[in-house]
Amino acid sequence: MAPTLHVLISCSNPSSRLMQVSVIAEGRGDGVCEFTFPRWVPGSYLMREPFQHVRDLRVCDESGKELSWKRNGINGIIVSGRSPSKTVVLHYDLLCADLTVRSNHLDSTHLHLMPPFTWFLPKRGCVWADNEVGGHRSVVEENQVGVTMHLPSKWIPATQLPPVEVSWLNHLGEGGQTPAGCTTHHFVAKNRDELLDGIVEANATPSDTIEINGIPHHLKLWDSGGASIDSDAVERIQEAIRLIAEESHRLFGVPDIPDYTTVLQLTSGSRGGLEHLRSQTSMVPRKALWVGQKDGWRDLVSLLSHEYMHLWNVKDLRPKKYLNYDLDTEQTTDLLWWFEGGTSWLGDVICVRSGVWSEDDYRIDFKRKMTRHLRGDGNSKQTLAESSHEAWIHLYRPNPHATEHRISYYNEGELALFCLDAEIRRRSKGNSGLELLFAELWKKHNRNSPSPGVGEVEIFAALHATEGGSRLSGMLRTLIHEKGRPPVNEAMKTFGLMLTSGKKENDDDDFKVDESKGIPPQGWLGLRLTGKSGLLKIGAFEIPSPMRNIAQIGDEIVAVSGQRVHTTKDVKEYLKGKVGDEVEIALARQGRMFSIRVEVVEEPQLAVTIKGKGNHLWRSLICSPDV
Ligand SMILES: [Zn+2]
Repeated sequence: MAPTLHVLISCSNPSSRLMQVSVIAEGRGDGVCEFTFPRWVPGSYLMREPFQHVRDLRVCDESGKELSWKRNGINGIIVSGRSPSKTVVLHYDLLCADLTVRSNHLDSTHLHLMPPFTWFLPKRGCVWADNEVGGHRSVVEENQVGVTMHLPSKWIPATQLPPVEVSWLNHLGEGGQTPAGCTTHHFVAKNRDELLDGIVEANATPSDTIEINGIPHHLKLWDSGGASIDSDAVERIQEAIRLIAEESHRLFGVPDIPDYTTVLQLTSGSRGGLEHLRSQTSMVPRKALWVGQKDGWRDLVSLLSHEYMHLWNVKDLRPKKYLNYDLDTEQTTDLLWWFEGGTSWLGDVICVRSGVWSEDDYRIDFKRKMTRHLRGDGNSKQTLAESSHEAWIHLYRPNPHATEHRISYYNEGELALFCLDAEIRRRSKGNSGLELLFAELWKKHNRNSPSPGVGEVEIFAALHATEGGSRLSGMLRTLIHEKGRPPVNEAMKTFGLMLTSGKKENDDDDFKVDESKGIPPQGWLGLRLTGKSGLLKIGAFEIPSPMRNIAQIGDEIVAVSGQRVHTTKDVKEYLKGKVGDEVEIALARQGRMFSIRVEVVEEPQLAVTIKGKGNHLWRSLICSPDV
């Protein structure tokens, strides 16, 4: 049977950055039909209003006769006057010029298609939505969607959507014919979730496929500047994916999926990742693949691992509220510390256990996390549960003062769970760990289980049932519901380690603090400076900056004690040996010059470096149980 909803795209002129889009829906009765455009994308908590990219919307019936329609709210339309026709057809152009992991991007070299950014969906008055008979969500879940794409013939699409040989092409009407120079591809999404997660990367580079535990893992690469990607790099990425997948299958079991697709986009600087049911889009600076780029490579494999863990934690195990997304309105959850912070913790543990990271990599990255943690002061102002709840207004709407009063549920959630894990290991004498809690929770509450979805209650119950976790409810409650820093130093002690303010590995030799040789300590003003258009400006204050209450973000630093400065290095060099001195700083604000006086303080030495070999509990964390 032909699907009652069919969606199409055509990329016959990709250089225009415009995609031709159609939605064909079978109406119910002869009443009005309502369609809405999603306002946000699952996994990214901001009203992105992709409707803004729609142009030249036309609504007609299957014979091409125009139907009357009007706008409804921010993101909807209502179509009337349909009788006696059954079918409603929307045609529009869509601008695809946003280069992010969560948006559509079309140019002469590729298409990255993000379904929630692409198609109106029927809300009522259509068979697929079936709002009028009630319980439309469950019906939607059952309803398949036909997906047709006209793509330049040289392009090969990679997607988690299964391809189909169609017999329903005659339903397509306008938009059904293959444009010159294009090839038509057909897919089917078995329900709304599958459609929304059915991202597509189409370009001329074929996917590289390896089999891991019987599951084909496709790698689809694209470089935003057209740089070529050598085969050694492809092999290295695939080997990392193989190790990450095998290690996670050891924990969760081999997943019941037909395949998995990793879309990896390379850029000059942008970075991001977004998870889908059986795929991910990740984006990193291309230099991560260059020889000797240890930091970039470490970040890339951590990102791939994080998104792969979402296969279980987020996509299959979900907050109850996210079992059915309502994409018309913001949906809050207090659990992002678990679903993002926890995924980060697990992703990096899988990295070190699988060998894609060395123990050194784990330690270096932990230092990065601790530095970020100690440079902010949000822990005294916001709890992890609040941070999760406020994702829509805080994490996704950052401002330069944000680290003073809010925390990231990613970084802080991960550190809190690091502490909880240390305690589970101590109490279970290394028999158990937080990873077992992830596996157990997923087994009990995945989407296909008798009790799908979790709230806080289920997480606490699973902790109680975990070996070593039965008396840790109080600790977890404090970690997520009380303000204050997590006990990372104690956790390190549990692991036979400690955190010190040892010298930075990559420190610039000129600035090393070495009092033993009589080199004076580095003076510090607690400024994060930006250097746009040749102007050195205050981008943010670090804590506790002596200039926090006398200068403003956006002020230009012109000179320090009469010495003209152009770069962060200029300022740093000048402040060397000036601890305790009062300096005069010439500022420009809104086109007016003035000066302030401030006492230079010593640069805070943050205890962020892991020292020590670690004990058997540490090894139970970082070593694969099979090794
Ligand atoms: Zn994530």
